[in-house]
Amino acid sequence: MPEFEAIIGLETHIQLNTDSKIFCACSTDSWRVPPNTHICPICTGLPGVLPSLNEQVVEKALILATAMNADEISQASFFARKNYFYPDLPKGYQISQYDEPLAVNGSFELPLPEGNSRHITIIKLHIEEDAGKTVYKDAKRLIDFNRCGVPLVEMVTGPDFRSADEVAKFLIRLRQLLRWLEISDADMERGQLRCDANVSIRNVGEDRLNTKTEIKNVNSITNVRDAVQSEIERQMREVKAGGEIKAWTLDWDDQRGVLSKMRSKETEADYRYFREPDLLPIQTSPSAVAATVSQLPELPLARRSRFSEVYGIPEYDAEILTEERSLSDFFEATVAAHGGNPKRVSNWVMNDVLRLIREQDTLAGELGLRPGELAEIIGMVEAGTISSGVGKELLEQVRSSDRTPAQIVEEDGLAQVSDASELSETAAHILEANPDQVAAYKGGKTGLIGWFVGQMMQETGGQADPKAAREILESLLEG
Ligand code: ZN
Ligand code: MN
Repeated sequence: MPEFEAIIGLETHIQLNTDSKIFCACSTDSWRVPPNTHICPICTGLPGVLPSLNEQVVEKALILATAMNADEISQASFFARKNYFYPDLPKGYQISQYDEPLAVNGSFELPLPEGNSRHITIIKLHIEEDAGKTVYKDAKRLIDFNRCGVPLVEMVTGPDFRSADEVAKFLIRLRQLLRWLEISDADMERGQLRCDANVSIRNVGEDRLNTKTEIKNVNSITNVRDAVQSEIERQMREVKAGGEIKAWTLDWDDQRGVLSKMRSKETEADYRYFREPDLLPIQTSPSAVAATVSQLPELPLARRSRFSEVYGIPEYDAEILTEERSLSDFFEATVAAHGGNPKRVSNWVMNDVLRLIREQDTLAGELGLRPGELAEIIGMVEAGTISSGVGKELLEQVRSSDRTPAQIVEEDGLAQVSDASELSETAAHILEANPDQVAAYKGGKTGLIGWFVGQMMQETGGQADPKAAREILESLLEG
């Protein structure tokens, strides 16, 4: 039995987060906006108008090209017209780039489990405009031009993925990177990150690339993984049954979770590409590239490794803390302010700060809790000044207060009670009120000590020092 392997390449379309479109001043906002409200003669291709290039699009595309380690960024790259007829393409052509794209020859090291990684080639990266949207409703086709002229970067990878799971992992990393670089919101549901996958199979050990199919219109990472997996399995069944793989374009049906054939694939010649006569080439000087490189932030994967190396925190922590840039900045600033145990800071950030962030649906930087304040709270818990329960409550209070954590503790009397006489009084009171539990404890159920400590904490509003409370309870119960 021959063993098959899957060969997958991706074509991603990334919507850059500029305010206005690529060749006109219309807003790029198209999510749940009334149809055909963000349009003008330029983006709808009326006669006699001329496009003019939005400089921000080039800047953001350049950031992505350098983050993807593109070896060759063209000093002059050209726009081209990709001609095809479709109702949501009012000009009859899409302004794209073709033979002279912005950048070629990039790479991305995709981390895989057990410290392995997969080298993904970025074949090319080019700038283009989006087309409109066709909506099918009550046996009618409705056309919305709001998306026409929304700026995109098309990024093509080599056929370097070997499983549906690797594809999903890459898309998660790409989304993380785009948000980290603040060049795209990369929300797949909103069409800001789209992905077509080219899938073929071959016998393990072969070098050649067999006929591939192209999967289109998948709108979530989970669906991309499912679609690619089901196509790999289909091709294997087909070949095992003696059939042949044809170069189909396949459409993913979200509702039913199946692929169906859209059409036989066009070849590039069908698009009759030619240079766009209405736009000048994009000039990218080596100094502009150098400036972009020097302004790149530390990228998420680099920061992840640095976190585990420099702070000695587990990889699991480093992964979560670098999922999002603002959180990783917050963690690092807190460690610096705390000056002590990074793992302890990590626990607080991952458990408590992250919970607040999710509840508030915000970013670490906008939480209203400063790294210095968190460091101060952790310090007070470590010093035994406050219980960890009070510490957690303080996180909330600090956010809505001008007072420092220490001031709140002082003024609101939140300091931990470890004073023996005060605790003894409360303990005696609790024993008196619970004769059954006392009898059970004395009869051998010493595990009840936890329950008694719990009562102490409740009675003191969380302020009893649990260790001192336990000692006092034990001495009373055993005395
Ligand atoms: Zn417009
Ligand atoms: Mn494209």
